[in-house]
Amino acid sequence: MLQRGERYGNGMKVVLQNLTKKFPSRDRKKRDEVIAVDNFNFEIPDGKLIGLLGPSGCGKSTTLNLISGLVKPTAGRIFFGEDDVTGLPPENRGIGLVFQNYALYPHLTVRQNILFPLQNLKGKDKLSKEEMMKKAAEAAKLVQIDELMERKPRELSGGQQQRVAIARAMVKMPKVLLLDEPLSNLDARLRLQTREEIRRIQQETKITTVFVTHDQEEAMSISDMIVVMKEGAVQQIGQPQEVYDSPVNLFVAKFLGTPPINIFKGKIGGGRLYIGDEAVLAVGGVPDRNVYVGVRPEGFMLNENGPFGCQLNRVEVMGRDISVVSMHKECLNEVVRAIIGTETKADIGIDSAVKGGIVRFSLIPHKVFLFERETEKRIDAEVCSL
Ligand code: ADP
Ligand code: MG
Repeated sequence: MLQRGERYGNGMKVVLQNLTKKFPSRDRKKRDEVIAVDNFNFEIPDGKLIGLLGPSGCGKSTTLNLISGLVKPTAGRIFFGEDDVTGLPPENRGIGLVFQNYALYPHLTVRQNILFPLQNLKGKDKLSKEEMMKKAAEAAKLVQIDELMERKPRELSGGQQQRVAIARAMVKMPKVLLLDEPLSNLDARLRLQTREEIRRIQQETKITTVFVTHDQEEAMSISDMIVVMKEGAVQQIGQPQEVYDSPVNLFVAKFLGTPPINIFKGKIGGGRLYIGDEAVLAVGGVPDRNVYVGVRPEGFMLNENGPFGCQLNRVEVMGRDISVVSMHKECLNEVVRAIIGTETKADIGIDSAVKGGIVRFSLIPHKVFLFERETEKRIDAEVCSL
């Protein structure tokens, strides 16, 4: 059996220092270049799982490939522990890689696929046949495919194939595990199951892991910390809940959470926050100005005397939650979506909160964020109920 936290990736922090990657423009006539990764600074703590998160094209894969050595940085340095690995080729970095497409050798069995990286070891790293078999068996057991060792990849489900790919990445006992959208090819149920599996493996082995995804829920659910990227630049780094509860800008606020945060045009005037003509909250410590107001779906409470009125559209029951869908002329989302917890399911109070087609809410202050209109940065303001 594997010794907990002993055999894999012991104490391997990964330091990214001013890491930058520029690609020449694909259009030869143009001189503009793509800054895929822009001055990335982060010390990935050893033994943690980091979710690298952002929309397609924001530089996630490039960042991962810089860490793996598949891509050379334009500027900046990478350290594994205290060692500067910036100039090292991928095969000398002690990494395990898993990609979206499992990339198994179709003509080899599961066992042969897992053995493959070991058979290429040379010199002092060379292993005896017996040692190789033992390591392959351990890796297979870790990802729970030890029953499937004699099968060919085509005889496996997508989830099983991805486990084989993980076992193959783990068999050399890498110091760092790098996963690039490893669940994107799986159907919804397998995706959920396999992500739990990756979390378990990571916690058992304590291997420092970077997990790339564009799926915020996926990143939030398995990461110790998330890094949110946009256009090559890091926007925010923190524990998932921390980032959700305290986004630094409008982009991060909008990127995290399902259903998404509701954004309104609003203004601060005389210590009050207005959306349209209605003063919805009290605000301290900031001068009058126009703002964007973000309200998390769980930030609304039905209240017949509430300060904020929206035009009721419909009430949806979604599993455990009840969703009140409405409209407001200052809302930038298509609809205003309020999630009302179901402790009050029998009577969520919708009837008394609606008059003449207008549903009234009060807003929960810590679920409301204010952003500057120009920079879209979060405004540090004291917000409280009126
Ligand atoms: P993500 O993985 O977040 O979708 P990528 O890291 O693949 O994003 O890409 C970031 C940016 O760099 C994109 O604009 C992409 O088009 C560009 N890019 C990536 N690889 C290359 C390359 N080899 N040559 C030119 N541009 C590239
Ligand atoms: Mg990518």
